[in-house]
Amino acid sequence: MCEFKKKFSLPSRYEFEGKSVWVEYHELATKYNPINLGHGFPNFPPPQYVKDALMEVASSPDNSLNQYTRGPGHPRLVQALSKLYSSFIGREINPYTEIVVSMGGYQALFLSIMGIIDKGDEVIIMEPYFDCYADNVKSAGGTPRFISFKLKENINGVTSDDWVLDRGELEELFNPKTKAIIINSPQNPLGKVFTLDELTHIADLCKKWNVVCISDEVYEWLVYDSRKHTRMATLPDMWQRTLTIGSAGKSFGVTGWKLGWVYGPDYLIKNLQRVVVTCIRAGNTFLQETAAICIEKELSRLGQKESYFVSLGKELEAKRNVMFKFLTEAGFKPILSGGGYFMLADWSSLENLIDLSEEKDKYKDHRFTKWMTKNVGVQAIPINPFYSKDHKHLGENFVRFCFVKTDSYLEQTAQVFKTWKLQLQ
Ligand code: PMP
Ligand code: GLN
Repeated sequence: MCEFKKKFSLPSRYEFEGKSVWVEYHELATKYNPINLGHGFPNFPPPQYVKDALMEVASSPDNSLNQYTRGPGHPRLVQALSKLYSSFIGREINPYTEIVVSMGGYQALFLSIMGIIDKGDEVIIMEPYFDCYADNVKSAGGTPRFISFKLKENINGVTSDDWVLDRGELEELFNPKTKAIIINSPQNPLGKVFTLDELTHIADLCKKWNVVCISDEVYEWLVYDSRKHTRMATLPDMWQRTLTIGSAGKSFGVTGWKLGWVYGPDYLIKNLQRVVVTCIRAGNTFLQETAAICIEKELSRLGQKESYFVSLGKELEAKRNVMFKFLTEAGFKPILSGGGYFMLADWSSLENLIDLSEEKDKYKDHRFTKWMTKNVGVQAIPINPFYSKDHKHLGENFVRFCFVKTDSYLEQTAQVFKTWKLQLQ
């Protein structure tokens, strides 16, 4: 780089390894136009009442909806969120001091980490993890400490429940420098839904070491079969040390809205509200009003089959089953997902049947997913980017598929895999 430009190189707090998998695979999808089961988003529209709410706000004569709103969250939205979560948490959540609204679950994570992590603090992260966790911790000056899920043998066939942590290993990571642990349930990319027993073990460690739990629950409504979503903040004495993250994008099938929130105790939320002032001051009024209307609608039918929070989960469970079947028939070993948008599949038994020599990436899952995009016309996401630098090899046998797609899109994928499988024989 020439001398005068050197002064302006990327600040070291943003120097992370490699290219973002989202940027890379978005470019790949644009170039090859595959069936896109990579990036996690629904390819079907949100329910009609969500579109109606958008129209209602767009045509409202109330000009204040086009102007700046309250910084830490639009009053109607924080009131709706308070009503929604107070009923689940079993305590009255103060809409003004215990909630902060953000630009997506993504910024909710940013606010939570920037709001509590300082130089020298350690943060425990479970691998594979949603990739911005570690980058945020590093940019806050903290140190991520990683622990990997291991896949248990299960003679009845593995499911995402079989990804477990070694409890002794987790206990050893806690020390006086530990400030936070990040959990994600339902989990991206594994589809794991944490059991009450697993959460209790983590909660006990948080209490023992005076650690905050950042609980990423953006897929909170999407749990399958007989599983239940347990909110970390409901465990005994955990409210005062838990920041819980939610997303309108995931709740209403509108990922492009990028509207999220954090709720938790006032002494922590106060810090996050301070971070909001430094980076955005106030979010988008129009979408916050719309999301408030949608939540109010859901509040009137919580837990009933008409609720989108209930019906979307049912719909996605059926889609997950369709995907499990066609991936198995194509020669993958999928791991039945318990929640969220994604299913992991072991592709290693296909390795000897194909030639990946044209692909030059370091990790096999990267080579395979690129090859599959170009040669089969189906895109999935490699798993190594969800691991820290020294553990990337642990993800090489797996790829991630998103099943939040129309039935016809999934049927089309099944046909493409069928044709490809026939060519292989
Ligand atoms: N957390 C997890 C686990 C995710 O998968 C995502 C991706 N959407 C986010 C947070 C970010 O949510 P949003 O799209 O609302 O920014
Ligand atoms: N959560 C989505 C996924 O994992 C979106 C990721 C993103 O926008 N970076 O595919």
